[in-house]
Amino acid sequence: MGEIVCISPVDGREVARRKTASAPEIDVALKEARAAQAAWRKTPLAERKALALKFMDALLSLNQEVVPELALQMGRPVRYGGEFRPVEERVRTMIELADASLADIVPKPRDGFRRFVRRDPVGVVLVIAPWNYPFLTAVNTIVPAIIAGNAVILKHASQTILVGERFQQAMDKAGAPKGLFRNLVLSHDDTSKILSSSGVDHVNFTGSVEGGRSIERAAAGTFTTVGLELGGKDPAYVRADANFDYAVENLVDGAFYNSGQCCCGIERIYVHENLYGRFVEKYVDLTSRYVLGNPLDEATTLGPMAHTRFADLVRDQTAEALAKGAKAHLDPNDFPADKAGTPYLAPQVLTNVDHSMRVMVEESFGPVVGIMKVKSDEEALKLMNDSPYGLTASIWTSDIDRAEELGEQVETGTVYMNRCDYLDPSLAWTGVKDTGRGASLSELGYAALTRPKSFHLREKI
Ligand code: NAP
Repeated sequence: MGEIVCISPVDGREVARRKTASAPEIDVALKEARAAQAAWRKTPLAERKALALKFMDALLSLNQEVVPELALQMGRPVRYGGEFRPVEERVRTMIELADASLADIVPKPRDGFRRFVRRDPVGVVLVIAPWNYPFLTAVNTIVPAIIAGNAVILKHASQTILVGERFQQAMDKAGAPKGLFRNLVLSHDDTSKILSSSGVDHVNFTGSVEGGRSIERAAAGTFTTVGLELGGKDPAYVRADANFDYAVENLVDGAFYNSGQCCCGIERIYVHENLYGRFVEKYVDLTSRYVLGNPLDEATTLGPMAHTRFADLVRDQTAEALAKGAKAHLDPNDFPADKAGTPYLAPQVLTNVDHSMRVMVEESFGPVVGIMKVKSDEEALKLMNDSPYGLTASIWTSDIDRAEELGEQVETGTVYMNRCDYLDPSLAWTGVKDTGRGASLSELGYAALTRPKSFHLREKI
């Protein structure tokens, strides 16, 4: 049996140490989940929705304790106050959508027949969650899975290992039947074993592309369905007719909130040449106002990255871009907390960048953004699509019809106009290319967590 140790990016202290589940413990958890699910799927939908609501209330009641705990585990400043507002929005939306999403599909009546498609729960769902939005990403699947009549096993990230325990605490407080929801501390090997032995019926993985590949390989040949929500290199395109101040302010926040560790954070910006000079000037000015420091301090607006190795990746990408001629607009010396060999990394805005530089094509997942000048919609489109990823893309303009036209041509899971780094639970959360497969949230999220069962009953012979 191994151990998972969570080391704080704040000051290197050990936040938590947990033993990984033993083979017998995993076996019991899977058996209990299956037994609980067999009963749970028969409970009325209203009861399942009620459990989701109680779970949400129980989770929300933990907010005060969770905010500093989260800061210690992954570095998000306490001033931002946790993830529970969007958690509530997502839970309530999935409850609202449940009746329509889980109702039988009834085709055109045919005399003498009763025909419909029922949406059966898939069974036991494994949720593998990342540390960057550790509550939100897990809620996206856990809540609709439970509402749809499934049991859930959660494997949370090592960096936010305590979040899994908070989920268990809230489910227990909400009165979830024994075994219906189980947080397990799992090694990668044991996770793979569960998948390769058909231990679960569906797996939702949110994390890196490499991790997604491993999960797909582990599940290969078992016919376990796989939902993958992976990395991104999300672009923004600022057209000449954009609301200038609004675009700059939102794109600064979209790039640097959570130290840039948002799957749908802004990583590259293409600005029409008419606005470019002014845009860069204001963008750099706003970015220079971030206060990098200890996330437990109320004055801090930019925390450390979750791990030194993540900060080092951003440092490498930035150094490579500078060596190839990029211009850095911020001086790390103006951010006294910035220190090599630590997760504390100053924000950086780069210009004179192009797509030969890793910082413009590989996921940075950190507080750096590259800005390029473009002459036309066509040039912006070409650059936006020049990426192995496709999670979200945002277009900043006052022309909604043009935004829709351009949106049709962008290879992406979500197109925004005048908005970014946000997830609307009424819409499918999905990606193209290396960003993954499947969809969560919305009605389509329920489709991934159920399987169709057709009833074709002849009444008259
Ligand atoms: P990660 O290293 O892939 O880890 C994600 C989760 O998967 C963790 O629980 C991790 O466990 C587990 N994991 C990774 N490889 C595994 C394997 N081979 N077998 C079993 N479990 C495995 O990703 P991360 O660094 O936590 O998260 C950042 C990445 O997630 C970024 O690329 C980001 O874009 C992406 N992301 C995408 C979305 C989206 O909606 N598309 C949302 C959020 C984040 P351990 O922690 O124990 O290693």
